[in-house]
Amino acid sequence: MFDRLRQAFSTVTSAIKEKELTSKDLDDVAFNFQLSLIESDVGQSVAEALTTEVQKSLSGIKVERSVDPGEVVGERLATLLGAAFAKAGTVDLVANIREKSKGGEPYVILFLGINGTGKTTTVAKVANRLKKEGLSVVCAAGDTHRPGAIEQLTEHADRLSLKVVAQRYGADPAAVGRDGVLYAKSHHVDCLLIDTAGRMQTNQNLMEEMAKIARVVKPDFKIFVADALTGNDAVSQAELFNGHVGFDGAVLTKADADVRGGAALSIVYSTGKPVIYLGVGQGYDDLVPFDSKSFLGSLLER
Ligand code: GDP
Repeated sequence: MFDRLRQAFSTVTSAIKEKELTSKDLDDVAFNFQLSLIESDVGQSVAEALTTEVQKSLSGIKVERSVDPGEVVGERLATLLGAAFAKAGTVDLVANIREKSKGGEPYVILFLGINGTGKTTTVAKVANRLKKEGLSVVCAAGDTHRPGAIEQLTEHADRLSLKVVAQRYGADPAAVGRDGVLYAKSHHVDCLLIDTAGRMQTNQNLMEEMAKIARVVKPDFKIFVADALTGNDAVSQAELFNGHVGFDGAVLTKADADVRGGAALSIVYSTGKPVIYLGVGQGYDDLVPFDSKSFLGSLLER
């Protein structure tokens, strides 16, 4: 995973290792760094911002003979990226759900994302994970638009022995969400997971629909689901959803096939929200917590 992005970072550290730091060298290194970030699917604006920051932090460096310049740059990058990931914070969903269930209230999670990213599969994977933690879970079929969406969620739920709250196609998704909350409350369920629509052709309507569900249901947590393989698109989608509906954490799917790795970095950097899980396959157990320390550690090979 993420090999390309790792190479992008090593270009900057190894280039600097090789010669003394003149300002021309620094410009070249910065230019190549930016290019390789973009090649690794880091969004344009994020690549520019990172390069500027790297340039700024490098320009004052007076590297002594005894010091490895690559190390110095590595330190700077680690501090820079570490700060962005630290600012985004971390989330312990299971602890949050347990805390809320002490008061007898269900914890409500709204899933957001474009069709095809793996949202419904992710709802099932999260449900599976919570069940294994001993929490009770119910799902709500909030995609009332896409033919087959309700059956798809129901099929996953049947395999996991979970109840799905659903209405007919064309129903108001906010009403489905509200039904889900009522069901979860009356049956003392710990957590409600709401799947939603993600049709791409009508962005404005989709954002309005998501904002309405969020207003009506008042979720405790909004998870944005993105396909890591779509790179730059994943970043623009994150910005779109974050701007219109807001989200609290992201899940990046298909990380098992993602050699570039730029999406995780870009989403955290541009939205300030943490990546909480990575999808690493098609099975229900193929969901792993995202560990920013080991992600950054492996990028910077530290
Ligand atoms: P939705 O339209 O966003 O609800 O997407 P689906 O949940 O239907 O998933 C679309 C496809 O992506 C399905 O074939 C899933 O099995 C696949 N998929 C979802 N998550 C992952 C993942 O983490 N890794 C891989 N390799 N495939 C995934």
